[in-house]
Amino acid sequence: MTPSSDARFTPFRERIHAIFGMPVHKVTLEAGFTCPNRDGTLAQGGCSYCNVASFSPPTLRARRPVTEQLRAGIARKRRARPGVGGFLAYFQPFSNTYAPVERLRALYEEALAVEGVVGLAIGTRPDCVPEPVVALLAEIAARTAVFLELGLETASDATLARLDRGHDAAAFVDAIERLDAARRAPGGPGTPEPGRPGGLALGAHVILGLPGEGATEVRATADLLAAGGVDSVKVHHFYVAPRTRLADAWRRGEATPPTLEAFARLAADLLERLPAPVAIERLWGELDARRVLAPHWRVGPDQVRARIVAELRRRGSRQGSRALTEVTS
Ligand code: SF4
Repeated sequence: MTPSSDARFTPFRERIHAIFGMPVHKVTLEAGFTCPNRDGTLAQGGCSYCNVASFSPPTLRARRPVTEQLRAGIARKRRARPGVGGFLAYFQPFSNTYAPVERLRALYEEALAVEGVVGLAIGTRPDCVPEPVVALLAEIAARTAVFLELGLETASDATLARLDRGHDAAAFVDAIERLDAARRAPGGPGTPEPGRPGGLALGAHVILGLPGEGATEVRATADLLAAGGVDSVKVHHFYVAPRTRLADAWRRGEATPPTLEAFARLAADLLERLPAPVAIERLWGELDARRVLAPHWRVGPDQVRARIVAELRRRGSRQGSRALTEVTS
């Protein structure tokens, strides 16, 4: 699947539709995980920009059993979008592979047992996929599609250090290589494909407009993702959440989020360098404005996408126009 002439990039939504043969939506879960950057293993303060409440829907903050959350979320989605055919149980906040394997297995199996769930989506850090977790994901992916999302954020080790991420870009490369090897191994699950069950898809989360970063860093991030052979990329714009260390830097004028126009240029820089087969899951993160200090663009997702497409059109380019790596899958 390549970018349509109108969209100029490859939408994840269409990839998912092709794999399952029907519209499939995510239902977000809060399963009670933490992360090594908060529990004291690496640090206690978290990444400098992290205020989990700012990216979790309010319905998740009072945690309920996974089955209950899923049933309620599916019912809401079915009311809002009657044409949806199935759902991915999306383990989103914190690091959702950061627990003993048997606890992970129990949570994932509980989600898969809920009526309407056709696969898992799991967000985590690249340093939270040790070999036993890789083996568990490959085992589940042999029968049910699993979409793993690793938070890279940027390929720049200097920026990762400034953000107190607690891992470097090499940790991401190592995780992707081990996961890719597991899915391609004889008897491994392969990637999700139309017409057959299972498959392990590898995605990455990146942030554009980070302090100290411009087009050069964004292109380097795209090149790292392309070289790693990721299947999908989810983009967030850099924003400042209250009660974070970055909020203090923002008040001092040391961390300024991009304007919408600057963000559109960075998104175009990223897309041009990502090979066309890489599906774009999202081009910016929609947030509750009351939980964000900056930026306040006062636009919706359609307008943000339109700005990015307009920038690509202005350049006469599209996703993959300047890619250095061809993806083979
Ligand atoms: S952003 Fe993610 S990895 Fe960083 S502290 Fe927050 S939950 Fe942990």
